[in-house]
Amino acid sequence: MDWVYNVPIKFYEYDLNELKYKLTDFDGNILLIASKRVINTFDLDVGGFQVLDESITNPDVHLVREILDGIDKPDLIVAIGGGSSIDLGKAISALYEYKDEDVLDLLKNKDYLENGDSIPLVAVPTTAGTGSECTKWATIWDFDNNKKYSIDADYLYPKESWLVPELTVTMDEKMTLATGLDALAHAMESYWSVPSNSYTRVLARDSIRIIREYLPLVLNDLDNLEYRQKMLMGSFFAGLAFSNTRTTACHSISYPLTMMFGINHGFAAAITLFEVLSRNWDYLKEKDLFLDAWDANDLDDIKNWLEEVSSGSLNLANFGVKKEKIPDIVKLATTGGRMDNNPIIFDEEEIYDILNSVYY
Ligand SMILES: [Zn+2]
Repeated sequence: MDWVYNVPIKFYEYDLNELKYKLTDFDGNILLIASKRVINTFDLDVGGFQVLDESITNPDVHLVREILDGIDKPDLIVAIGGGSSIDLGKAISALYEYKDEDVLDLLKNKDYLENGDSIPLVAVPTTAGTGSECTKWATIWDFDNNKKYSIDADYLYPKESWLVPELTVTMDEKMTLATGLDALAHAMESYWSVPSNSYTRVLARDSIRIIREYLPLVLNDLDNLEYRQKMLMGSFFAGLAFSNTRTTACHSISYPLTMMFGINHGFAAAITLFEVLSRNWDYLKEKDLFLDAWDANDLDDIKNWLEEVSSGSLNLANFGVKKEKIPDIVKLATTGGRMDNNPIIFDEEEIYDILNSVYY
């Protein structure tokens, strides 16, 4: 067997009215996880379920504890939001059975892997970027100790994912760019990842093609529902690709950038994207098709696109990182299952060089 591809999720594209109908139509106790902003903007608190309306970014162990203590066991979790909301939904789904135990211990000893009674989850992305609606893993942060934990279990694939383009229209320009670049990083990293295969590369190339064309367009026309729908599909294809390959060096290096300097995940992943692409280039499969998806003749065309779409903002100095902090970033930049998923396993010296090259 050369490869296998598996994403056991039912995907639906709905409009906003269908989403509301699905919420009220469910016969049972729903826990709705969504930010107050999303609930109010779309009038989603249609009654009959528990609503968790925190503003959720980078969910950490304390927030998970608070929620486990504060809810009755739901029959279904509906997480509407960016990757953080959906990740939080996955964490509650996995850990509710163990609510009497310490959350940090659970994340470390992975007792939740044995959970035969997880709560089904519906994922509804409001950003076009994270791909969390396609994957069986979630990130929970431990900011007290500068660590992150990945919850990862086969039962954590969402039962269903509902793609509703209207929900993504409220993203401002910065968020649209950050999440679009995150999706692009998922597609590109999946493409050169060690386990990439001919099917994931088709998905990754389609994602790149769509994002390359529509990210610049949507940034100039944020209310355009057609462009938003395209970006949601671009992110979705990237999610389908990296759900079976995972990400690589760029994501590995991004985690300390987010942890230490609060850099938005999408920007943190995209800062090293071109530098890592050029170092990985010799290992890329089907190079001609990759360049074709980019509508590019060579790597310079890709570099120019990235610079243009981000208005030259993808460098560490722009995010307030001091140059003398680079060695501290390097120490935290090797994440198991990410760096070793890159065709070249960059050592500390190479990571230092990469970070230096993207300083200005
Ligand atoms: Zn990402």
